[in-house]
Amino acid sequence: MEAAQRAILAANLKRVRERIAAACARASRDAREVTLIAVTKTVSAEITEALIELGVADIGENKFQAAKEKFPQVPALRERGKIRRHFIGHLQSNKVKGVLELFDVIHSVDSLKLAEEIDKRALALRRGPVPCFIEVNSGEEQKQGVSHEQAWNLWLDCQRLGGVQLCGLMTMAPLKAGPAQTRSIFSKLAVTRDDVRAHENENQARHLGLSMGMSNDFEIAVEEGATHVRIGTALFEGLNVA
Ligand SMILES: *Cc1c(COP(=O)(O)O)cnc(C)c1O
Repeated sequence: MEAAQRAILAANLKRVRERIAAACARASRDAREVTLIAVTKTVSAEITEALIELGVADIGENKFQAAKEKFPQVPALRERGKIRRHFIGHLQSNKVKGVLELFDVIHSVDSLKLAEEIDKRALALRRGPVPCFIEVNSGEEQKQGVSHEQAWNLWLDCQRLGGVQLCGLMTMAPLKAGPAQTRSIFSKLAVTRDDVRAHENENQARHLGLSMGMSNDFEIAVEEGATHVRIGTALFEGLNVA
């Protein structure tokens, strides 16, 4: 990667981290509570590698096939366990096995059938419980995710699955939502998370997170309690990515 391109990437990353820190300060939160997931779905293996060299420890992809092709070309991803890989896209049951071979965390559990498949495959692969977020639908044009009411039931069902480690709720605000609507969507997810948390044992409850916030709304998300922000575009502005 050219030095000039690398400098742009480094500056973008620094700026995003500063904006997360500023949002944390406004909400009296510790910036260490917020994990930046760099969403690399639109960029090359080379840029993904450069991001990791710059200190990014969490990578997100939304398509199994694309990740399967890209990951082997990213040297920093060869060693399993060093970088956390987050699957953030819609997941079909027939892709679960492959996704578990490539990814560490799943952000898009939206049915019991899917959760049961994750549970079964996790046991077959002899890996520990898979960290999973339940995806909640926050807008009409969005097909993925369950309603807030269903999230609660799905949560209870998933608690019985030894291969699924519940780590919180995930959502996406509709693209057309303005700042006020986006904020109310994120704060509503935090309320649902708190409801669920009240029924967890203390040890587990502490770790229940909120995966919310993308390039155009991550500051609002952090102010409303996001623990995982998923950011692509803002990291790649000014780069020759295509
Ligand atoms: C693409 C994507 C993101 C990142 O979006 P940007 O607007 O590029 O930051 C976050 N979450 C999901 C689920 C995505 O598909």
